[in-house]
Amino acid sequence: MTKTRPVVTRFAPSPTGPLHLGHAFSAIVAHDIAAASCGTFLLRIDDLDLSRARPAWETQLKDDLRWLGLEWPEPCRRESEHFAAYDAALDQLWAEGLLFTCTCSRRDIREALSAPQEGAPQQGPDGLVYPGTCRPTSIPTPPLGPRPKGATLRLNMSAAIDKLSTQAGQNAQLVASFLEAGTGPLGERGQIHLSSTEAIERIGDVVLARRDAGAAYHLAVVVDDAAQNVTHVVRGEDLFEATKIHVVLQRLLGKPTPVYHHHRLVRDDQGKRLAKRDDARALATYRAQGWSPTELRQHLGL
Ligand code: GLU
Ligand code: ZN
Repeated sequence: MTKTRPVVTRFAPSPTGPLHLGHAFSAIVAHDIAAASCGTFLLRIDDLDLSRARPAWETQLKDDLRWLGLEWPEPCRRESEHFAAYDAALDQLWAEGLLFTCTCSRRDIREALSAPQEGAPQQGPDGLVYPGTCRPTSIPTPPLGPRPKGATLRLNMSAAIDKLSTQAGQNAQLVASFLEAGTGPLGERGQIHLSSTEAIERIGDVVLARRDAGAAYHLAVVVDDAAQNVTHVVRGEDLFEATKIHVVLQRLLGKPTPVYHHHRLVRDDQGKRLAKRDDARALATYRAQGWSPTELRQHLGL
């Protein structure tokens, strides 16, 4: 008999601005999913971007979440305290020859993609799919020297997929897949399979380490979710495509793949997505206007 793991969900905001209605929706859904099965709801502070994260926003967001009636174990994980764990994961991928140094500026990438032989540029989860300018033509054979520090490192997606396909043997479906318990932007649900063509052509060589900031979000989120035994990742459908990157990284790093529960985005009256800058929708504004948490939940349809 397989023992089911206790449900662990998380809400991982960046302390770079006020929480708005969309954040409240995500946090409440994650909290309620955990509560429904006597699981644990975690708050994680995504303060990887030290140049933009502010302790005052962290204080404010916790205050907003408590006001909503949410509870989480303290101390909560702060990404800025775990750079060593991200470095270890980057070292592991580097040692396998799966990362390469990229010196392209955004402009270099745009120019390379506008070359006549390139088809229409593809939008990936992080903007334009990287044209491969700096990608080595052959995978370096280990042992490799130490990982360069202070460099932009990209995942060699084609090498990564080759490695996973070899591991999966005949069962190529297993290269990367996840269970969608919510819905993706096009109504995707159930078991979602990532084909090697999609991974290479629609996602490509994503950035996993930044020159000035160390680990990138995609790397950190995978390390954190595994370190915290997160079983259900609850977040907006805008991250559905990014999940495909995360699943590839989980397989490469030997970490379990949680269940994903993507949810609809909260939009403003004009149907536009809410942005952090949109102070009018800040939770603090609703609080100041005297809304109760119950009214806010009802307003969000929860
Ligand atoms: N800090 C990220 C965001 O707010 C977290 C995304 C996630 O839940 O993985 O977009
Ligand atoms: Zn490059």
